[in-house]
Amino acid sequence: MANDQLRVFIKYFPVFLKYGLSLLFQRVQALIHRYTWKPLPSSQNVVVVGGSFAGITLARRLAESLPSGYKVVLIEKNSHFNYTFDFPRYSVLPKREQRAFIPYTGIMANAPKGIFEQLQDMAINVLEGDVVELASGRKIPFAYLAIATGVTQSPPTKLWAREKAEACAELRALQAKILDARRIAVVGAGAVGVQMAGDIKSFYPEKSNMGIGIVLGERPELPRTAGWEGGELTFKGDREEQFDLIISCTGQTPNSSLLEQSFPTAISSKTKSILVKPTLQLHSVAESNAQHHNMFSLGDVAETGGPKMARAGMVQADIVQRNILALINGRRLKAYKPMSIEGSLKLSPGKVSSR
Ligand SMILES: Cc1cc2nc3c(=O)[nH]c(=O)nc-3n(C[C@H](O)[C@H](O)[C@H](O)COP(=O)(O)OP(=O)(O)OC[C@H]3O[C@@H](n4cnc5c(N)ncnc54)[C@H](O)[C@@H]3O)c2cc1C
Repeated sequence: MANDQLRVFIKYFPVFLKYGLSLLFQRVQALIHRYTWKPLPSSQNVVVVGGSFAGITLARRLAESLPSGYKVVLIEKNSHFNYTFDFPRYSVLPKREQRAFIPYTGIMANAPKGIFEQLQDMAINVLEGDVVELASGRKIPFAYLAIATGVTQSPPTKLWAREKAEACAELRALQAKILDARRIAVVGAGAVGVQMAGDIKSFYPEKSNMGIGIVLGERPELPRTAGWEGGELTFKGDREEQFDLIISCTGQTPNSSLLEQSFPTAISSKTKSILVKPTLQLHSVAESNAQHHNMFSLGDVAETGGPKMARAGMVQADIVQRNILALINGRRLKAYKPMSIEGSLKLSPGKVSSR
């Protein structure tokens, strides 16, 4: 155990050291930038769509580094930052759900005044001519665009509500369903499935008298319900089992539809992810020259070659920020190369934490 920890420390020490030094450098740069950036009436927009791990990191880095003449516009449909890591737990455990929603107010407290604007709206279209169209009807022109819209997954991984109060009510409704059900099937053994099964068993041990039953190598057909309902699962050999509640923790759809109309070839026909070059600029299969040079994508929605993890999205944010500055200043662009540390995940199924 001690040996393992030492090996991990030795392996990642250079990465942490490099990261720590670059953070220090960023802080110093941000302080200087705060007193040197000037608001101009003709400022052009650098638009970031999606205010979660990837988008918010990018918006912050841009607000600390863009030269005078540019400002950041963050478009996010939710009223609060959704801390999705906690959603599986707070769909089981009552009275804590409000903690998973963090206000956006104050996120740019250290940025120069006037460099940042946030709109609670849904981007529905990117139009040719460098304009983002919003569900409200507003049209936002951009000099540079970064799409960090993530993926859609069924509750509890993601919620449907956009306002905090409604999102909390959504989680409370899931808690009530778990409380009422005796036989619960969690389908899918990814991070969310494992967390859900562990939490249900840990907080409600009476739900089953046989521990957690694990059925491997099965892909049961899910009933056609709105989700989080009871029903029958059909396993191999037509074996059927009845459950009071079926929780599906499978499948995700990249939120790439805003490119469908004007840039359909920048969307993978197989995965629906946004295709990007190593520089994280859009990569359309029908691309001619530098058609999309000012459009980037990052995080879970993009086919970056990196893991679909918050850490990876934050590293990618750094690359996009540097590359936008490089384009403004006529410098060479940097390529994103995934690092193994970006794929690490901490799960704590049940009351006793484990790694
Ligand atoms: C239970 C659980 C535990 C996890 N633990 C870890 C962990 O320990 N470490 C780790 O690195 N990762 C972890 N992950 C993975 C991590 O949550 C995702 O990789 C991360 O959320 C992806 O971030 P993102 O910014 O790319 O997209 P998302 O988090 O999906 O966010 C996309 C944002 O875009 C907004 N949006 C979407 N479409 C539009 C639109 N058209 N207009 C306006 N706004 C829009 C959404 O509202 C949302 O805020 C975990 C995930 C789960 C479910």
